[in-house]
Amino acid sequence: MSTCVCGSAKDSAQCCAKYIHGERVAPDAESLMRSRYTAYVQANIAYIAKTMRGPALVGFDPHSAAEWTKQIKWLRLEVLNASTITPTDNTAYVEFIAHYLFQGRREKLHEVSEFHRIDGCWYYVDGLIKE
Ligand SMILES: [Zn+2]
Repeated sequence: MSTCVCGSAKDSAQCCAKYIHGERVAPDAESLMRSRYTAYVQANIAYIAKTMRGPALVGFDPHSAAEWTKQIKWLRLEVLNASTITPTDNTAYVEFIAHYLFQGRREKLHEVSEFHRIDGCWYYVDGLIKE
């Protein structure tokens, strides 16, 4: 048993791994967001690309995303706020801070991400960088 890197305190097999391996569909935007963080830690850009739609894909280059995440030591994910989902909501927002080391410096990415549910699956569609 190993604790999931997304910080959920769950076993990784019971957390992001089942979404990344395609065994389950992420039930809400926060789960999808956490699994995307875990995929970045693993440099699994195929999963990152697969979970994006619309504006998020504009300017997204899988090769540079892979190079970028390989230069980063991801430290932890802090989910600040995740909007409440009702079964009829197809848009959700998750605010998070991802802490990482880049070239020996502590950095953070503070973002409000927008997710849409399309045909029962959540996708990352846009992000607003804070501060
Ligand atoms: Zn997880």
